[in-house]
Amino acid sequence: MTVRTQLGNSDLYINPIGLGTNAVGGHNLYPNLDEEVGKDLVRTAIKNDINFLDTAFIYGPERSEELVGQVVKELGNREDVVIATKGAHKFNGDDVVIDNSPAFLTKAVEASLTRLQTDYIDLYYIHFPDEDTPKDEAVGALQELKDVGKIRAIGVSNFSIDQLKEANKNGLIDVYQGEYNLLNREAENEILPYCKENNISFIPYFPLASGLLAGKYTKDMTFDDLRKDMPHFQGRQFEHNLDKVEQIREIADDKGVDVPHIVLAWYLTQPAINALIPGAKNPDQVINNLKTLDVTLTEHDIERIDGIFKKQA
Ligand code: NAP
Repeated sequence: MTVRTQLGNSDLYINPIGLGTNAVGGHNLYPNLDEEVGKDLVRTAIKNDINFLDTAFIYGPERSEELVGQVVKELGNREDVVIATKGAHKFNGDDVVIDNSPAFLTKAVEASLTRLQTDYIDLYYIHFPDEDTPKDEAVGALQELKDVGKIRAIGVSNFSIDQLKEANKNGLIDVYQGEYNLLNREAENEILPYCKENNISFIPYFPLASGLLAGKYTKDMTFDDLRKDMPHFQGRQFEHNLDKVEQIREIADDKGVDVPHIVLAWYLTQPAINALIPGAKNPDQVINNLKTLDVTLTEHDIERIDGIFKKQA
């Protein structure tokens, strides 16, 4: 069994390499997803000691949670798996609004429990902030659910630094999830230092910049999914980013590993980041990403990578 890391002040201990599951039944994000492959990603993860699964109501919507729940039930080892899910999206017909009200979050947790076929959710995040609900009140509702055993830890995602501070007024936040990768380092300005000071685990999403930092894309590639609108994937910027990835390949070759292992290992050297949730499209990627845990980066490596992807102001 590999090393386990603690999420914030919670009693959750996880493999630092988890699995992001927005490509498990996330039909609204990726067209033509095969659900059997999605289930196999989850199965492969759990069978290879990856015990941290990251899902959300909105992936599908609903379908990712359902498929994750099916596989965990099939394998029969619920207590060995740490399931994180998220809610805040409320559908009114075809319209979707963000709602952090205590009443909505309470209902959202119940609905996630049903889809996941479980009695408790290990980590529940408010997925996005709404404009109206005081954030400590929203978190208070989750604390009540924690008190009755429906969730085990509280997280927030996509909150600004001020919203995070308000949410954490009573010290109840264990995990913050936000976009962070070598191409988007804004979180280094305020959110990462705040998480470090307050013993909140920061879990970066899009750690591989949706695949761009995994080292296999070429400049002639085009995309028909959520990547087609992402800034990192546009024209000259895309080419420039791929040139940087080639510099990472030199470090990877020296160590006998692949590009994603170096990229993922670098995050784990950052203060407050102790767990990662790379996504995957096939089971080989799930297993491959575990090699990250074999990488040791020297101070020189860390600075070199920092220099290649210079910090944004
Ligand atoms: P990501 O982790 O940056 O990139 C994952 C993609 O990289 C894979 O789908 C695969 O794409 C490629 N890849 C992964 N491992 C690889 C390997 N070893 N070798 C080569 N290619 C590899 O992006 P993500 O999955 O969108 O984000 C991670 C997780 O964060 C999500 O699954 C989700 O759980 C979470 N998330 C949360 C939020 C939020 O608002 N809180 C938002 C977005 C995502 P290809 O095979 O297509 O190249």
